[in-house]
Amino acid sequence: MKPIYIEQSFEQDWVRMFQNIANLFFEETEMIRGEAGPAGEAIRVSFSWREEAGNLHGQADLRDEHGSFSAEYSEEAAHNGDPKAEKRQLKRVLSHVFLDVLEQSTGIVQPWGILTGMRPTKLYHKMRREGLTHEEISERLVTEYRIAPEKIELMKRIVERQLKMIPDLDRIGEEVSVYIGIPFCPTKCAYCTFPAYAIPRRGNRVQSFLDGLHVEIEEIGAWLKERGVKVTSVYFGGGTPTSIEAHEMDALYEKLFAFFPDIREVREITVEAGRPDTITPEKINVLKKWNIDRISVNPQSYTDETLKAIGRFHTVQETIDKFHLSRDMGMNNINMDLIIGLPNEGTEEFVHSLAETEKLQPESLTVHTLSFKRASEMTRNKKKYKVADRGTAVKMMNMAENWTAENGYVPYYLYRQKNILGNLENVGYSKPGEESIYNIVIMEEVQTIIGLGCGASSKFVHPQTGRITQFHNPKDPAAYILSYSESIDKKIEILDELFGEPVPAK
Ligand code: SF4
Repeated sequence: MKPIYIEQSFEQDWVRMFQNIANLFFEETEMIRGEAGPAGEAIRVSFSWREEAGNLHGQADLRDEHGSFSAEYSEEAAHNGDPKAEKRQLKRVLSHVFLDVLEQSTGIVQPWGILTGMRPTKLYHKMRREGLTHEEISERLVTEYRIAPEKIELMKRIVERQLKMIPDLDRIGEEVSVYIGIPFCPTKCAYCTFPAYAIPRRGNRVQSFLDGLHVEIEEIGAWLKERGVKVTSVYFGGGTPTSIEAHEMDALYEKLFAFFPDIREVREITVEAGRPDTITPEKINVLKKWNIDRISVNPQSYTDETLKAIGRFHTVQETIDKFHLSRDMGMNNINMDLIIGLPNEGTEEFVHSLAETEKLQPESLTVHTLSFKRASEMTRNKKKYKVADRGTAVKMMNMAENWTAENGYVPYYLYRQKNILGNLENVGYSKPGEESIYNIVIMEEVQTIIGLGCGASSKFVHPQTGRITQFHNPKDPAAYILSYSESIDKKIEILDELFGEPVPAK
């Protein structure tokens, strides 16, 4: 834990902001405000600011074991006397100078600048919708956020791909997408914080959970039909949606097709079959019966020791076999996930994973960077797991970028997470035209996602204002069974507010 003393007594939201920036440089930090702090290893920072001649000036002075560093930054005051806008702008100004002194002291340059949020491309889209050209957006991203040119270029390419895939992206808020969470997995991966209950132990709960989910599908489907709200995409996630039995999957899709409006016109239905050990010919036949052809078969790594270390009890060979089985049986849009920075993995293992992926040529490949989520086994027992350092993680990310370009993939969505190795990002690549619509709409927050099932988060995006309201279904099947009925009522209440009165019958 790196202690950082801030001389001024800032309020908690400011301290959080400074900590978010400090965490880009150090694994864990402790912010101590209102104290000058002791000399030595601790970092001591002092801020000053003033408004003068229409400009807002900020300064940071930092002292630590490496020496004394100072940074200044100023920009035209644009708050027009509005205290909230003034605070926002001052926060940005002090973020600049804080980032600057930390870069000087550590020698680490942050390619994402002061941007600590999850969705960089959302910011790009916002400026685009305001009518700015790429050059103007670029200029603002450099000066206001200190984002590196290569990251701006990446954002531009992604935004262009998204608009190509969803030309009506700016109007898609009039429709909704649906996420359906199935909270079961064969075993729990060490880095996982998703609802993933082991099927054998919770087997008796599966049917009660599915009964609740059927009711959710019926009632939300009825609401969508009544209001004439179209569904853009449906995504089955979890857990692993293929960990339930083939006949249970069949019954679920039958319900979906019976109750959802114009289901055959839905642009995309995805079923995560992430764990290869859950894929069987019977289950693929069920997917085919309902014309569902976008699935994920997730290797994460092509090194058996790594799979064991992270608690996935299937082999690399099983991933390869199940990929071929799916392909041979007609699945023609398969996504695969790889994770950079899994325990004991360096560039050598990653080169191997890319070489194996090359033989399979999935339609899309999502390259994640390991993130230490608070509730995961890996974070709780961090010392047990040896993971790549920042430099190696960056190298692997560059390798993924080169490999995807050489193999005809284009980046189409990206997101960042807290506590992500090397402050990198997760990037979704696909063969052109095979981009996942659901991944785009959820990442850019351009439309409402209604979450059904366990651990499903609903994100209600107001079609006109973009204001977001969230609602979370419980993660635990036992709690879900007791509360799904209330959850349906709550979601319908919010949907009514967003979409207004029912369309009169024709
Ligand atoms: S397969 Fe996915 S949801 Fe299941 S335990 Fe692993 S990471 Fe979690």
